[in-house]
Amino acid sequence: MQLVNGNEIADRIKLSVKEKLTTLSSSVGKGPKLVSVMAGDDEEAKIYMNMQKKAAEEVGIKFATHRLKGDISQEDLVKEIAKLNDDREATAIIVQKPLPEGIDHDRVVASVAPGKDAEGIHPYNLGRILRREADIVPCTPGAVMKILRVHKIDLYGREVVIIGHSAIIGKPLSLMMLNEMATTTVCHIATCDKGHLIGHAKEADILVVAVGKAGMVRGDWVKEGAVVIDVGINKVGGRIAGDVEFSEVSKKASIITPVPGGVGPVTVSILMRNVLRAYRTQNVKG
Ligand code: NAD
Repeated sequence: MQLVNGNEIADRIKLSVKEKLTTLSSSVGKGPKLVSVMAGDDEEAKIYMNMQKKAAEEVGIKFATHRLKGDISQEDLVKEIAKLNDDREATAIIVQKPLPEGIDHDRVVASVAPGKDAEGIHPYNLGRILRREADIVPCTPGAVMKILRVHKIDLYGREVVIIGHSAIIGKPLSLMMLNEMATTTVCHIATCDKGHLIGHAKEADILVVAVGKAGMVRGDWVKEGAVVIDVGINKVGGRIAGDVEFSEVSKKASIITPVPGGVGPVTVSILMRNVLRAYRTQNVKG
């Protein structure tokens, strides 16, 4: 069994981003700036934001926080985003979750200029995946694809099963894998309710789990030799656990991602790669 080292993969991506930015920034003059929009005061959002800030600083991206009051209206929040869209210094924008109650995250994200969408979740960028034209990609699916590439997993004709169908993970990932000619099955809560989940999971050459239920996937759900990618992040007691019961599944899998230290760090580095790509498109013509 091979254990994926997410930190090592993330370091390699960040190094490549840093090198490319050094070359680009010297010809452009001004470097990229990632603006983090945070409404309210959520502690978890702050933890994620600090991780992003650290990664940005490592690769030479300026990181600025745009703090807004927790009682801001949807309309005012969208106005703030519009100002950042017009600000030439702000080359990329990320909207921190959770947003205050009553604010529609999807609508806020849709108000970000697609060319500044650091997370790759604007409807325009998501749509481009369909045409295999995406440059800025949703970070977690981008991380999963990167992990598979690093481990030389050929997707051509392979049975991929993704558990979780959210618009930021499962759905775009299924399209990205389909683009690589995998045969993809996407499972979700209704698959579970109808009792078909384990049957699908057992068929997978590559099993990706993005649900948010600690230890849900057990050893007997997994085919011998399968590649298992655990996207889940769950707080259990004082520690972080994935959606996969690692002690059991690691005995069956040929390759497996740990939690923590698997998909998570790669996701943050893909965010930096998106900031680089946005900056490049804004500054390099043709
Ligand atoms: P979500 O709540 O939007 O979606 C959860 C999905 O799981 C849905 O498709 C739902 O139908 C499905 N589901 C729920 N219960 C199920 C069950 N019993 N059986 C089968 N399917 C079931 O969540 P999300 O935002 O897509 O995040 C999923 C997980 O990934 C969470 O643990 C989150 O913390 C984690 N996450 C990780 C990263 C990373 O970089 N590693 C990034 C973002 C989110």
